[in-house]
Order: sequence, then structure tokens, then C-alpha cells
Amino acid sequence: MKVLVIGSGAREHALVRSISNSQRVGKVFAAPGNGGTAIMGGKVQNVALKATDIEALLAFVTSEDIDLTVVGPEQPLEMGIVDRFRSEGLSIIGPDRYAAQLETSKVFSKDFMLRYSIPTADYQVFTGSDGAGAYLHALKDEDFPRVIKASGLCAGKGVVVAANKEEALQAVRSMFDDRIFGDAANEVVIESFLKGEEASVFVLTDGTGYRLFRPAQDHKRIGEGDSGKNTGGMGAYAPAPVVTDEVMRKVEERIVVPALEGMRKDDHPYTGFLYVGLMIDNGEPSVVEFNVRLGDPEAQVVLPLLQDDLVDALTASLAGTLDSVPFTMLEQVASTVVLASGGYPDAYAVGKEISIDLSDGVPEEVFLFHAGTTMECDKLKTSGGRVISVTALGSDLKESLERAYDAVGRISFDGMYFRRDIGAKAL
Ligand code: ATP
Repeated sequence: MKVLVIGSGAREHALVRSISNSQRVGKVFAAPGNGGTAIMGGKVQNVALKATDIEALLAFVTSEDIDLTVVGPEQPLEMGIVDRFRSEGLSIIGPDRYAAQLETSKVFSKDFMLRYSIPTADYQVFTGSDGAGAYLHALKDEDFPRVIKASGLCAGKGVVVAANKEEALQAVRSMFDDRIFGDAANEVVIESFLKGEEASVFVLTDGTGYRLFRPAQDHKRIGEGDSGKNTGGMGAYAPAPVVTDEVMRKVEERIVVPALEGMRKDDHPYTGFLYVGLMIDNGEPSVVEFNVRLGDPEAQVVLPLLQDDLVDALTASLAGTLDSVPFTMLEQVASTVVLASGGYPDAYAVGKEISIDLSDGVPEEVFLFHAGTTMECDKLKTSGGRVISVTALGSDLKESLERAYDAVGRISFDGMYFRRDIGAKAL
């Protein structure tokens, strides 16, 4: 069987690894892939097509007779790649454009949760700074912090946790009047602040049946002790101890099942991966956000923990028989440490040569998932902000982190930056 994975990050490298491990798969294409998928060899091959060039991807899938397409990032889903592929009778993993609004429109997502009684923060929707300003002016000091969110996709930058009224008004003005997010902030959600601990739960679903990966926690901030600017994610680990069996049961009953049921009632059964971003307060989970794909860096820890064949599960999800395939998790802990270019998430240099010292081998529990890397004249070079996600499995978190940081010590490039405290708070 031939599979196409769309995307170029470490998440997609992790998907390519899991998919190429399947006995059923003879060939895996990564479009466009990265330096890591370029050097895998064997079944794996990069193809120079952009993740957002849907017509070119469709032409490739047709001409190469690809059996299954797996979408990594959200942009092609927002553009309706699933609807387009399905209209041509092609097999593709992901939600249709309507269901993808769970991520691509925060207004849709909040209204959906309200409609189907899924626990989330109270909210109001605004379409201009006058209405939003009047609403904020009427709030009392004790009503803060409040969270201000541009409704559309903003690459993780469209959310401001405003500590007081002044910050909230400033955020609203920058979105509506200065239009810093353009049309993505034509609608703005203002919601109450949820306290607690964040974690994420990943679901694979065929619309009715579903399977759960291990819950994960990530580190979004650039600095140690969760300080400094937000990033795409600097590290993650799974399972996350805060998601106890009891919390997981509540997540299934109160969030996953009603969300899938809601999408069926809306006549757009949700298919593919669903990411549930949670806030857990005293054992009570509520939804911070839905994403309609796997997270990055969480994919780099949840996928290697799946013991069974991912491709069996993916094909079963298309056939509507997901409940009948094995979906067992390893009794291990996975962690990942992201190596970034110095300066990230602000400006950074690229084109730095990457040295990986494998002279005494890499333990089989360690995986280097590439993101911003490229092969140039037989040399591996940096090409992005997040460069490599170093994942390791262990019998517990401590062992997995030791292995990951040991592998980090074998890698170097000019300006390499990483956090030394991944998983520390869970130890
Ligand atoms: P990303 O895709 O990067 O996760 P996003 O732009 O889709 O982000 P959200 O996930 O909704 O935005 O919010 C980003 C972060 O802001 C959350 O991970 C959380 O830390 C914080 N946050 C969002 N909403 C709330 C809330 N209601 N209460 C407390 N914190 C919140």
C-alpha cells in the first residue's frame, strides 16, 4: 500500500515513522517532508509539493495511485482538502471543512460546545471594538483576567490573557482597529479565565467509534520555568499524570462522546484526529480549545507509544470499523525535547550545519524527529525555528528524559537552544 503524509514538521516525521513501520505499507511519500524524512531511505521519499497546494497534491495522489493520504497541519484542512479528495473518491484522514471549524473558527467552536453542553469557559462574541470596549468597560476589576481571542487561525498567536481592563482594551483595539491578525480577527471571543493545569487528549475517530492515545502535556514557553514568549512548543511528555483514569473517563463522557455526537447531528460526522486541549481544575476537565489534527510536539510522544499498527487503525477509521482494531499503548513514558535555532520564536538564522554524533549508536528507544532541517549537498542544515524534536521512551519519565537529554548532547549546531527543564514539574 502507498501512503502520502502532508506536512513538513516533526509531527509529520513521527507520522511517517509510524506509518512506514507497518508491514502493509510499501511506500510512504512526505509532501514536502524535511531533512529527516529525506534521509530515512527505504520506503520513504520526499516529494516537493506544498501542504497547501491541494490540486497538485490531488494530481500526485491520482498519478501515483496512492491508497491513503494523512494530513498533518491545519491549513489544508481549513482549505477543504478532505472535501476535495472525497469528491474524487480518494481515501484521506481528517475532518471535512465544516468539522474543521472546531479549530479554524473559535466562534464556531464555542457555539458548538454551548449547543452540545460541553464544558468550556463562558464567552461573548464581538464584531467591532465599540461593542467589545463597552462590554469590557462594564466589567469589574475582579472579573479579570479575561481571555481575548481572535476567532480565526493565527498560528497560536491570536490569544491574549489580559490581566486587567487596560490590557484587555489594548488587545481588542489591536485586533479590531490595527487589524494585526487581518480577517482572522473579524470576530473576537472574550471568555472567562480558567484556572488549573493544562493537558491534551488525542482521539482518532471514524465519526462514531473512537480510540484514545495517551494524554500529554507540552511546554509552550521559550524559557525555563515556563517563562518568556509562546512558541509552537519546546517539549512534551506522555502520559501526563494530571490526567488520571478518573479525569480521562470524564473527558470521554462529557467531551469526546458529545462532540462526536454533535458533529453527527450537524450532519458532518467528525473523522480523523481530534486534539482536545484541556484545563483540569480539581479533577474537573473543561475545553480550552479543539484542534483538528495531532499537536506538535505532542505527536512526537503519543505516536511512539502506540504499540499496534497505526495504518490498521487509520484504514479502519475510514471503513467505520475503528472499534474492532487493536489500539494498545506501550506501558512506557515518552518525552521529547525540541532543539531550536537561537533567537526563535523571534528572528533566527538558518543554513547552520547540524552535527549528529552517532559513533556509539543511538539506543532504539530514541527517535530524532526533524522539523526545520534540510539536506543540502549531502549536508544536513537548519531551515527553521524548531529544528529537531528528540524523543525517547523509558520505563518512567525520569528514564525517558535521561535518554532524551543524552541524545540531545550528541547534536549540535551554531546557536542551538533547548530547554533543560522538560518534564521537570511532573518528576
Ligand atoms: P495554540 O494553537 O497555540 O494552542 P490557539 O491560538 O489556538 O493556541 P488557545 O489554545 O485557545 O489558542 O489558547 C492559547 C493558550 O492560552 C492556551 O494554551 C492557554 O494557556 C491559554 N488560554 C486560552 N484560553 C484560556 C482560558 N479560557 N483560561 C485560561 N487560559 C486560557
